[in-house]
Amino acid sequence: MKYRYENFGGIIASDDPPFLAFVDQEYMRELKLPESKIWEIPNPDVGLLSAPLEVHIALTNQCSGDCPHCYMDSAVADPQELDTPTFKKALKILADMKVFHVALGGGEALEREDLFQIAHYARQIGLVPNLTVSGRGITSDIAQQMTVFGQVNISMDGTGDAYAVFRGKEMFDTADQAIDNLIKAGVPTGINTVLGRRNFDQLPDLFTYARNKGLNEIEILRYKPAGRAAKTYRREACTHEQNIALVPLLGELSQTHGIQAKIDCSFIPMLCWHNPPMEALTGLATYGCEAGNVLLGIRSNGAVAGCSFLKDSGMNVFDYGDGYVRNPALNQLITWEERAPEPCRSCPYLTVCKGGCHAVSMEVSGHLDTPDPDCPRVVEWMQGKGCRP
Ligand code: SF4
Ligand code: SF4
Repeated sequence: MKYRYENFGGIIASDDPPFLAFVDQEYMRELKLPESKIWEIPNPDVGLLSAPLEVHIALTNQCSGDCPHCYMDSAVADPQELDTPTFKKALKILADMKVFHVALGGGEALEREDLFQIAHYARQIGLVPNLTVSGRGITSDIAQQMTVFGQVNISMDGTGDAYAVFRGKEMFDTADQAIDNLIKAGVPTGINTVLGRRNFDQLPDLFTYARNKGLNEIEILRYKPAGRAAKTYRREACTHEQNIALVPLLGELSQTHGIQAKIDCSFIPMLCWHNPPMEALTGLATYGCEAGNVLLGIRSNGAVAGCSFLKDSGMNVFDYGDGYVRNPALNQLITWEERAPEPCRSCPYLTVCKGGCHAVSMEVSGHLDTPDPDCPRVVEWMQGKGCRP
């Protein structure tokens, strides 16, 4: 079991079964863990973590996929891309800060020759490396090497011909073969689906596909206006009606097929619309926008952003050589709640949602402080219907 201290107590983590739990000081003592000096410091910033739990790392900007909706605008390698030893130094900094997971991606991470070297090094220093890739190039041999990862997720926005809905190219068979090879190699495998208005109706087929493959999880990612997708967000994002229908539909599909459906942080407003009990949300450690706190994004050149979909903060991973610090750009994200405008200010879910996806707000309105324009509550408020209790 891994653990780290926080001012409220600590965070404990296990790889098998995989879990992360926030526990109070009393619980840390019950686990017979030594007292921490952090507990002696009166700290008003309870909830602000000493370091991120998970860091999303773009290992390269290179990708031969050329997908029109790429949120990283990936194509060719960034000339400033970190080399193998420098990436290892960056990982060591994260491990020393007691980050638990690193989500490796790109670009196409498999187009970096040192992917496995970097992943093994992450393991060696106590980080759990997870990977998201398209599936291109995952032969049986490569799949066997992928047991180094905690989980490998294959991007798939639809099955059969619908695979190409955003990507514009037929690669379903490639992704399907990669999933078969990974399962055969015993690698925990999942599907990442970018969801927008044109593939919303694909959800039942994706769940059927996942069940037939014996997968146990689908992660649904909101179509976000970052990179090349910034130009098409308004045209491709889910409609208001779909945003409202999403969570009940996922609940139904999840139950029917026995597959866990995960939504990403940006979909929390769509969950909150249905008035779930607050205790259930906090019990499940539901975070809304946790950019710069629970989560951090690192580009292939070492630049740091609050998450992969936000603009660079002006910091670099090597600024953390002496421990985690936040600059004004990251502080602006984590203090958003204090400045929350209506209707978020009056929203009963403000503390767990935190205004929805700030990457969407930034791109659509040009202001980080604007509430998520696609939150169903915000939409109704804008239509003069008031804030839903
Ligand atoms: S009104 Fe604001 S805080 Fe409430 S669910 Fe919507 S985006 Fe989140
Ligand atoms: S801005 Fe916040 S809600 Fe949006 S993707 Fe980043 S961390 Fe998630």
